[in-house]
Amino acid sequence: MGVPLRQQLTVASYLIKQKLKGVKKYPLVLMLEPLFRCNLACAGCGKIDYPDDILDKRLSFEECMQAVDECGAPMVSIPGGEPLIHKEMPQIVAGIVARKKYVYLCTNALLLKKRIDDYTPSPYLTFSIHLDGMQNRHDASVCQDGVFDRAVEAIKIALEKGFRVTINCTLFQGETPKEVAEFLDYAMELGVEGVTIAPGFSYEHAPQQDVFIKGNDIKNLFRGIFKLGKNRNWKLNHSSLYLDYLAGNQNYECTPWGNPTRNVFGWQKPCYLLSDEGYAPSFQELLDTTVWENYGTVNNPKCASCMAHCGYEATAVEDMLKNPLKGLWTSIRGPKTDGAMVEEPTPRYVTEKTLPTLAGIPIRVE
Ligand code: SF4
Ligand code: SF4
Repeated sequence: MGVPLRQQLTVASYLIKQKLKGVKKYPLVLMLEPLFRCNLACAGCGKIDYPDDILDKRLSFEECMQAVDECGAPMVSIPGGEPLIHKEMPQIVAGIVARKKYVYLCTNALLLKKRIDDYTPSPYLTFSIHLDGMQNRHDASVCQDGVFDRAVEAIKIALEKGFRVTINCTLFQGETPKEVAEFLDYAMELGVEGVTIAPGFSYEHAPQQDVFIKGNDIKNLFRGIFKLGKNRNWKLNHSSLYLDYLAGNQNYECTPWGNPTRNVFGWQKPCYLLSDEGYAPSFQELLDTTVWENYGTVNNPKCASCMAHCGYEATAVEDMLKNPLKGLWTSIRGPKTDGAMVEEPTPRYVTEKTLPTLAGIPIRVE
C-alpha cells in the first residue's frame, strides 16, 4: 500500500474510536464536490451533464468547512468537475489541512502547472492526478489529445516541489491486463506515492454508454492485472481486501455512508455515484433519512455493476477490522488470481433472470 504510515495510524485510530463508541454508520472519506464545471468532457463522465446555471454554482469556503466539520471523516477527497477552476480552492485546501484532515485534491492537471504555487506542500495534502492509462488510452478516455503529456509534466513539477502525488486511474472497455500493467510500471517509474484504480461506474448521465466494463469482465480484468503484477511492487492505494474483491474473491455489499458526498445540491443520497435519488440538508439527515437498504448491487438495478472504491473500500476496511487475520494473509499473499470466483448473490429486484415464466416466456407485470 502507498499510504504513509502516519496517515494509516490516524485512520486506524479513528476507526478504533468509532468501534469503541459503538457507532454503526461512520464516514471514512468525505467526497467534497464543490463544483461540477470541468475543462474537459470525458466519455465516461457522469458529472458534467448539467445546465450552465448548475455548472456555474460553487460551494463557498464556509460551506466546505461546515461540511468537513459536520462529517468528521479523517480524509477528504475533492473531486468535481475540475477543482482547480474554483477560485477559493487554495483557501479550501488550507482550511482542511489546518484541521489536520488528509485531503486528496483530484485534478485532471491541466491547470496544475499554472496554479501550483497557490498551494503549500504538506503531509496532509495530496494531488490525485487523473490518468486512465498510457498516452493513447488516456487521451482517448478524456477525448482530447495532449492531456496525457500535460498531466505527466504536472506530476513531475508537483513531485519536484515536494508535494505528495498519487494517480487516479479508471478502467474502461477494451483495456487489457498487459496494457494496465505497463501503465502501473510507468506510474511507479514516475515516482508517485501510489495509484488508485477502479472500474468506471456506469453513469446514466455519461455521454457514452458503451465504455463501461461490467460483471465478470471486471473481475477477469483485475485477475489478469494482478497476475502480471506479482513481484512488480506496484503501490496501489487500496486495502488488500478491496483488491481481492475486485478479483472476484470477496462477496461484499456496499457501504455508501463510508464516502458521503456533499455537493452544490446538498448531501447526496445515497453516494457519490447516483445523482437522482435526492439530497439531505445536513450530514446527520443524510444518515437518518436515506433508505440505505434500497441500494447496493443486490438491491437496486442502478447499482448492478458497481464495484467502485467509494462504495466498497469502506466495506473491505470493516471486514479487515472484523477479520484481521484474513486481511493480513491477503496482504501477504496478494489478491487470488485463479480458482473459482465467489458466487454472485441473487438480486432482490426483478431481472430478466428472476422473472417468473410461463412456458419459458418471462411474465412482466407492469
Ligand atoms: S471525468 Fe473528471 S476530468 Fe473528465 S470531464 Fe469528468 S470531471 Fe472532468
Ligand atoms: S453500489 Fe453502493 S456505491 Fe455503488 S452506486 Fe450503488 S449505492 Fe452507490
